[in-house]
Amino acid sequence: MKGGDGPDRDLQVTILGAGPAGLAAGHYLASRDVPLSVLELNDYVGGLCLTKEVNGFKFDLGGHRWFTKNKELHEWFLKLMEGELVTVQRTSRIYFDGKYYEYPISIKNVLTNAGLFTSVYAVLSYCRAAARDLFSDKEPVNLREAFVSQFGEKLFDMFFRRYTEKVWGCPCEEISSDWVSQRSKGLSILTTIKDAIIKSRDVVSLVDEFVYPRDGYQRICEVMARDIESGSGTVHLSSPVKRIVYNGPHDFTLTYHTPDGDREQHATDVISTIPATHLVRMMEPKCPQAVTDAANSLRFRDLITATVLLKKEQVTPDTWLYVHDEDLLFARLHEPKNWSAAMVPGPEYTSVVCECFCSKDDDLWQLSDEQIKERVVADLADKLEFIDRSEVLEVCIIRTLYAYPVYDLDYHAKVTEIYGFVNQHEGLHLVGRGGTFRYNNADHSVEMGQLLAKRLLGEDIDHMSVNTAQEYHEEIRNVLRKLSD
Ligand SMILES: Cc1cc2nc3c(=O)[nH]c(=O)nc-3n(C[C@H](O)[C@H](O)[C@H](O)COP(=O)(O)OP(=O)(O)OC[C@H]3O[C@@H](n4cnc5c(N)ncnc54)[C@H](O)[C@@H]3O)c2cc1C
Repeated sequence: MKGGDGPDRDLQVTILGAGPAGLAAGHYLASRDVPLSVLELNDYVGGLCLTKEVNGFKFDLGGHRWFTKNKELHEWFLKLMEGELVTVQRTSRIYFDGKYYEYPISIKNVLTNAGLFTSVYAVLSYCRAAARDLFSDKEPVNLREAFVSQFGEKLFDMFFRRYTEKVWGCPCEEISSDWVSQRSKGLSILTTIKDAIIKSRDVVSLVDEFVYPRDGYQRICEVMARDIESGSGTVHLSSPVKRIVYNGPHDFTLTYHTPDGDREQHATDVISTIPATHLVRMMEPKCPQAVTDAANSLRFRDLITATVLLKKEQVTPDTWLYVHDEDLLFARLHEPKNWSAAMVPGPEYTSVVCECFCSKDDDLWQLSDEQIKERVVADLADKLEFIDRSEVLEVCIIRTLYAYPVYDLDYHAKVTEIYGFVNQHEGLHLVGRGGTFRYNNADHSVEMGQLLAKRLLGEDIDHMSVNTAQEYHEEIRNVLRKLSD
């Protein structure tokens, strides 16, 4: 069929991946009667937004919060999820050197916990960074420089270095400053002070509470998939794409695997949300060596989620707890029951989801499930004193590959090499987190998917403008605001 008000050609779209990006593109296209199919590797939709259910306990791979500053997108979301949302009040803490700090950080709390000397030192180094920031045009290159220029040496060392290194598994000097600029919206110290004086209640309230699907974040994807299937699309689960032949502009032949054997499909347009590093290797004619080299050297960070199911009413009051100390295996935990009562089988139960960031070839990944269970329970019981071993019903281990695109210092050149190759294929489009190798939140991926769909239907829109360096990140804005309080 013709794409509505759109291009003067018939569209037959194949979407690779049923995560938020692919489903959002499909959802929009299906609402305009565009014939499409979604091919998904897993036997479920949602991608990284999976909500796992075990014996009546539900949990995300790590608590997922919906947040967007795009009002139109938020309205769309509220309508999509009507009747399924609960409101969560956000209270988060940092566990650092055996003490708890409020998050976002407050000066009062730092003073009480860290003592006068350290606090004065932190304030002085913050002022020094502010002064340096005012008189310097030098752009930070790595994460260390980016954090120090925004927070000062001492606060960086106290609240960012250890956690960030736990997340990325390497020194902050080896990660590009793009990660922090993408997530802190290029805030300057001056903006901070201005924000602290003229408080934007709008922004604060949006971040201090948020809405969450009562039965877990994956519901967003399930609802989109349901709508696609009741419209002009089909979603094929357990159907990994293996090969994409480019016959010419808007003429693709795809091979995908199914439990019944390989199948072929023709498409005028292919929307790919699968890791870009995989996509280029599936293309025929084959990509040049420089593109293969770029794909081979881009890295993803992986994740082990250890969820402890408990016969206990509550473990913490937190929405998230950030765990900086290196001797604890996990870097962040959340208690799904604090997000929605429906995440546990009854009021006498709770669970704790512990996120262990790792890489598939490192020591942590090599631990057996049993070893991880033991370590996590010991950390919760002995170090944090959150639980008693007798309260543990079960520990579920989930291993997730390609969870976080790693922005190493030359990732940008490698991604540009890949984009250049993809752009030589008319009708092949990249969206999403792994798809564009961009550190997207789910809302970014949804927005990208929708914008691309609109573009396919003829609108003059650049979906790649989503989540660029100047986009938002409210946590750091809040940290800065509170620091100036
Ligand atoms: C621990 C954790 C916590 C997070 N917290 C938040 C949060 O609080 N708020 C937020 O907004 N975001 C959060 N995110 C990010 C969010 O999960 C992602 O931004 C979002 O899932 C990206 O969606 P996507 O569709 O771009 O990619 P994905 O979700 O990765 O989807 C890609 C899909 O492609 C499929 N695929 C891969 N290879 C193939 C193949 N060969 N053939 C077919 N299909 C294939 C995959 O199986 C997957 O389903 C978090 C992520 C993690 C890991």
